[in-house]
Amino acid sequence: MLKGIAASQGIAVAKVYKLQQPVLEITRKDAVAEEELKKLDEAFAKTVSDIEKIKEVASKSLAPEELAVFDAHLMMAGDPELRSQIEDMIKNDSVNAEFATEQVANMMITIFESMEDAYMRERAADIKDVTFRLKCNLCGKVIPNLATIDEPVIIVAKDLTPSDTGSLNKEFAKGFATEIGGRTSHSAIMARSLEIPAVVGVTGILDAANDGDPVILDAINGEVILNPTEEQVAEYTKKGEEFKAEKEALKAMKDQPSVSTDGHKVLLVGNIGSPADVEGVNANGGEGVGLFRTEFLYMKSEDWPDEETQYQAYKSVLEGMNGRPVVIRTLDIGGDKKLKYHTFDEEMNPFLGVRAVRFCLIRKDIFRTQLRALLRASAFGHLCIMFPMIATVKEFQEAKGVYEEERAKLIAEGIAVGEKVEVGCMIEIPAAAVLADQLAKYADFFSIGTNDLIQYSMAADRMSQPVSYLYQPLNPSILRLIKMTIDGAHKNGKWCGMCGEMAGDELAAPVLLGLGLDEFSMSATSILRARKMINGLSYEEMKKMADKAVELDTMEEVTELVKASI
Ligand code: PEP
Ligand code: MG
Repeated sequence: MLKGIAASQGIAVAKVYKLQQPVLEITRKDAVAEEELKKLDEAFAKTVSDIEKIKEVASKSLAPEELAVFDAHLMMAGDPELRSQIEDMIKNDSVNAEFATEQVANMMITIFESMEDAYMRERAADIKDVTFRLKCNLCGKVIPNLATIDEPVIIVAKDLTPSDTGSLNKEFAKGFATEIGGRTSHSAIMARSLEIPAVVGVTGILDAANDGDPVILDAINGEVILNPTEEQVAEYTKKGEEFKAEKEALKAMKDQPSVSTDGHKVLLVGNIGSPADVEGVNANGGEGVGLFRTEFLYMKSEDWPDEETQYQAYKSVLEGMNGRPVVIRTLDIGGDKKLKYHTFDEEMNPFLGVRAVRFCLIRKDIFRTQLRALLRASAFGHLCIMFPMIATVKEFQEAKGVYEEERAKLIAEGIAVGEKVEVGCMIEIPAAAVLADQLAKYADFFSIGTNDLIQYSMAADRMSQPVSYLYQPLNPSILRLIKMTIDGAHKNGKWCGMCGEMAGDELAAPVLLGLGLDEFSMSATSILRARKMINGLSYEEMKKMADKAVELDTMEEVTELVKASI
């Protein structure tokens, strides 16, 4: 049994699927040409059928022009020149097929990489890709591909990138366990929005697990049990069913308002990563969307998404929420979020570098396209736009200035835009929290991003497992920053929400209610549990409790106080 951090609740029992590139150790061996040629023949046939299969699966989600790469790979796998060179080497040198393939591949890659023409140079990557698959087939190794999984599995990986999680098929991916990551790493957040169980930060899992091993993922207690006994399988299957039944029972609260016993109303809304997640927010009684992380749209794309594509996505979210508020965050890229089609400059500390609004203020062309798409979509519902990673009043003003310019241009072009678009500011850098009362003069609302606010306040990388103990949402220092932010907003007649993971934390909710938070945005699956909690609390009592909490010394003391107050 291996321990980790339960990042997305649930229990799953299935087989291990290791997402790890196979390591090939190819050496020269003397061999009988006839046998090697036969092996080569089979490996070529399998390579072609593998690529065809991937293309077929990909064709369900990719545009025709994006599928062209598979045609190029198929052509290469059928290229007589490549094949005859490998065959010649096998016959002439009496060597094994893997070795001959590697030699010929390396030679061709070197030639293509040194070509003048950029298009030809890029073909080197295709040769690498196809010949790697060919070598794997010769060595009997499987190249994992999430898109082609067609049986129930639990994915085991070092980490899952946001684009990996984006291509997970919930029908077969029953959960995942990763070596690195914490509760607020993006893979964990995606798992919650996909509603699949996940345990992250499981040191040693890649070495311990083998493809196809039976495994239990207990993402309630943060445990992974490899090769379980029959009794354990039965026990956990039962626990999993109980967990699902409890979830079902909460559905009775779906259409109820979120209101304390003494009549104080708040909004419980959902975090989403794509328009498809709107369904989950509605199904779980969400009163709106409190955070649409638009970067996933960019990460899934093959190039910067154009205005029309973005417009359709934003419009569909607004329409899906039927007039309820929808907070869409402008592009938050950089840090751990990379793009296939853009190379970020190397930085020593990417989380402290050109990320989010900092990137958008440098690349205003990209920012403007997104703002235009958002503004056009704003005609279809209640849109609130917010800028991530604002550190200073000047940054907010500059971003808002670009927004105003695009709005004026659209109006001059006669294009419809919503009349009451709210423009808000994320509070996820301590400097912004400290200056919240000034920022609130310019922003229509705040949304506190505690994932980053905590990492920057504690100077503890949210991706790092050894310092994950510093993720302390209930530390009085964090509570004070939150209080300053909420008070700053209210002093100026503005509302304040929270979209970091803390908003969905059951022990944090009573304090946040007491501090006066107006909107709690969380993964859709946490909404009903949070409603049950809030609807059973007295606002006046929680205010008194929160006043005491900010005066305490430690997170442990706050935890005790909360437990004693609910
Ligand atoms: C946050 O930092 O709390 C937040 C909501 O943004 P993200 O997790 O996407 O950085
Ligand atoms: Mg953030």
